[in-house]
Amino acid sequence: MTAWEPVIGLEVHAQLLTRTKAFCGCSTAYGAPPNTQVCPVCLGLPGALPVLNGEAVRMAVRTALALSCTIKPHSRFARKNYFYPDLPKGYQISQYDEPFSERGHLVIEGEGGERRIGITRVHMEEDAGKNVHGASVSVVDLNRAGVPLVEIVGEPDLRSATEAAEYLRVLRDVLVFIGVNDGNLEEGSFRCDANVSIRPAGAKELGTRVELKNINSFRFVERAIAHEINRQTALVEGGGRVVQETRGWKEGEGTSYSLRSKEEAQDYRYFPDPDLPPLVLDAMFVEEVRASLPELPRDKRDRFVREMGLTPQAAGVLTGHPRVAAFFEEAATLHGQPARVANFVQSEVLRDVTTHGLAATIPVTARQVAGLLRLVDAGTISGKQAKEVYAKIVGSDRMPEDVVAELGMQQVSDASAIEEVCRRVVEQNPKQAEQLRAGKTALLGFFVGQVMKETKGSANPQLVNDVLRRLLGI
Ligand code: ADP
Ligand code: MG
Ligand code: ZN
Repeated sequence: MTAWEPVIGLEVHAQLLTRTKAFCGCSTAYGAPPNTQVCPVCLGLPGALPVLNGEAVRMAVRTALALSCTIKPHSRFARKNYFYPDLPKGYQISQYDEPFSERGHLVIEGEGGERRIGITRVHMEEDAGKNVHGASVSVVDLNRAGVPLVEIVGEPDLRSATEAAEYLRVLRDVLVFIGVNDGNLEEGSFRCDANVSIRPAGAKELGTRVELKNINSFRFVERAIAHEINRQTALVEGGGRVVQETRGWKEGEGTSYSLRSKEEAQDYRYFPDPDLPPLVLDAMFVEEVRASLPELPRDKRDRFVREMGLTPQAAGVLTGHPRVAAFFEEAATLHGQPARVANFVQSEVLRDVTTHGLAATIPVTARQVAGLLRLVDAGTISGKQAKEVYAKIVGSDRMPEDVVAELGMQQVSDASAIEEVCRRVVEQNPKQAEQLRAGKTALLGFFVGQVMKETKGSANPQLVNDVLRRLLGI
């Protein structure tokens, strides 16, 4: 029996978050009524001339630099010709043999540790419009036609469906952190084509690949790739041969279907776009963009572990979104004990956080969280009471100390009051007390719990522990 090794290479299209389109001044805003954001240029009317959007170039260069690509000082736009209703010009402006950047990489957490996945190139292109199919008619919305995209072509370095999904997540996070893309798979602003082949384990040559088109969620990508690996393996083991083709994915049925046999580059009749001058990126511009790059998610995560003492787990969660990371860092700085802030943010705050693209709704401020934890530090309230206070300040601008004063909350650290409750609880549970004295120490938690319940969570837990141990003689 031959063992088969899967080989996967991803092509990602990411919409750049410019205000206007790539080659005209039309708005890129999502959700406008159909065909209200169009002009002679993006409609492909005769005589209209494209003018390159400088902001799109800046964002594309930002993307390439964040992926450690080399920027080429001289590149060119090309026409990719094909006929389709959502493509009014009959060609897409893209880059072909002279892209503006090449040879980068992305580091991901692979199944067997850190893996460096090659990036073949990042190039700029424009989006097509959208066909909308009704019951009896199909119509075309060209609002999206001409919206700037970067295409990020990955090397065939991925070896499993899981690894491919991980690469996509890491890539999405990088783009969101550098502010060039909103990472929204559902709205189609981050799209992926997956190329999949198999080869006998140990072989050097690549097998024939199948391209899976436009899959719109991380989960679907992983499922579709896994399914394709199994399909090819079964095919080859049954004596068949993989044919190069493009396939679509039916998520509902968990199966793929053939869309068309794969086009070759010559089918597109690429040639340099005569309407656009070559793109010249001088070194100063590139260095200026490089200098403006923020800390990337991976570096941030490493720093949270190294300098703040967070677990890699916590650092991963807290760097999942740039706004959440900034919020956490501010609270950690204000409070001074990052690990404690991390625990509280993860266990309480994140539950109430929603993110949409680059935006995040965080219903408390860093100051409120730091203030709340300071009240716990000072012994004014218990950790349990902190949760109650949090529930009261969430979604409001109230400061935790005001809520504590209003509720007359106080942590009971009065030893005699606590001792009284502890005595009562021990008397009420003689069986458990006996078992505990006989060595079943795990029962201490039960007694602490009972005391906390009696005091509505206001007792100082350390004190409760000490008193119970003394009373029970353990
Ligand atoms: P296109 O799909 O536009 O023709 P390429 O031929 O450059 O472009 O291939 C694009 C993608 O296909 C790249 O991400 C590359 O890693 C991947 N790829 C190429 N050959 C294989 C293969 N045999 N198996 C898996 N992926 C492959
Ligand atoms: Mg392709
Ligand atoms: Zn336009």
